Amino acid sequence: MELTSEQKDIVKAAREFAEGEFKDRAKEFDEKEEFDLAIAKRACENGFVGTFIKEEYGGAGLGFLEHSLITEQFWRVDPGCGQSVNSWSFGSEMVQAFGTEEQKKKYLPLIPTGEKMIAFAITEPDAGSDVTMVKTRAEKKGDKYLINGSKMFITNGCLADFMLIYAITDPDEKDPHKRASIILADTSTPGYEATKIHGKMGIRASNTAELSLSNMEVPAENLIGQEGRGFYQLMDFFNKTRNHVAAQGVGVSQGALEMAISHVKKRKAFGGTLSKLQGIQFKLAEMVTRIEAARSLYWRSAWLLDHGKLDPALISMAKWYAGDTAVYVTNEALQLHGGYGYIAEYDIQRFYRDAKIVEIYEGSREVEKAVIGSELLKRVF
Ligand SMILES: Cc1cc2nc3c(=O)[nH]c(=O)nc-3n(C[C@H](O)[C@H](O)[C@H](O)COP(=O)(O)OP(=O)(O)OC[C@H]3O[C@@H](n4cnc5c(N)ncnc54)[C@H](O)[C@@H]3O)c2cc1C
Repeated sequence: MELTSEQKDIVKAAREFAEGEFKDRAKEFDEKEEFDLAIAKRACENGFVGTFIKEEYGGAGLGFLEHSLITEQFWRVDPGCGQSVNSWSFGSEMVQAFGTEEQKKKYLPLIPTGEKMIAFAITEPDAGSDVTMVKTRAEKKGDKYLINGSKMFITNGCLADFMLIYAITDPDEKDPHKRASIILADTSTPGYEATKIHGKMGIRASNTAELSLSNMEVPAENLIGQEGRGFYQLMDFFNKTRNHVAAQGVGVSQGALEMAISHVKKRKAFGGTLSKLQGIQFKLAEMVTRIEAARSLYWRSAWLLDHGKLDPALISMAKWYAGDTAVYVTNEALQLHGGYGYIAEYDIQRFYRDAKIVEIYEGSREVEKAVIGSELLKRVF
């Protein structure tokens, strides 16, 4: 598979944007645990955000593959900053797939322009991988939902203008997969409170928050999709966003590999540079081969999705393998820096810390393997 010339141009432009806008400030953002949102707005102005939103709703109408390609380049330059920009539109996939025509026209055009940011709150203190354990309640009262509960580890919880909330609308339903719904709330609604979480291991530039939702009154017309179908809509959503997370893993790996190559070409030992040693070249060979394999997986899974041939097992393979590759490659890249990696080289240390998240959010590696296994067993050989 080869990218089209338009896709290659997107890759080049995304890399140039990231290098020009945040490469030199990545350390500062990591240390301060914050990001400069003016950069994210410039990314919107330059057409890098919400590219998958259809033209009739103000987007570029590109595929999920293009969004993933941009994500890879941003993460290659810096994962924390990349996540701060890429997550601006996190949740608009749900509105586009399940929103009414009115909702799509009302909300989606505001996202790629940078006027409004959207986010998605699913996880709770006692409900992560098993979303059927969610307790947040959205009780229908006339033409409103009354929302009460708490959410945990929510990306952009303190910054987003719109928050999609995964909540129980039918607690008496026997089937736990049919109890929840997805409701879009304006974060200026009284009762919405976000508290920033400090001290993350990685992607520290990205905002993460704990939410307290207390008697929030949200118009019933803000239900996205159907009442009781939230779980199924969420699975559809993850089939799109997991491609982007796979691209994150490839990006952080590629960036770490490039740092490692640059170091071993300069570092002198055993009568030459480290790069001349076969043992070192073997390491680089293994790193780059895994990166190519991970990239091929997400290119194919995203391409199939864009061509109406959804393959959840392949998407989970792409996400799992990219996370595995990210952790492996950043570990080896730090190793190749030796003591300087452990002590002085902040960039490789940051990439090493950043990589781990790819194995955790939007379906941990164990959840991805569970999807692959169950899909495999459905197939007849
Ligand atoms: C930086 C960051 C940003 C995030 N952003 C968001 C966000 O924007 N919105 C949101 O809703 N959530 C967000 N999350 C939450 C994230 O999606 C969850 O952390 C993730 O789904 C795992 O849930 P958990 O942390 O509760 O772990 P648990 O579900 O408690 O899992 C703990 C461990 O048990 C394993 N495990 C669980 N079930 C099984 C099983 N059946 N078989 C084998 N192993 C299993 C898991 O793989 C994991 O290793 C974010 C998390 C982080 C760290």
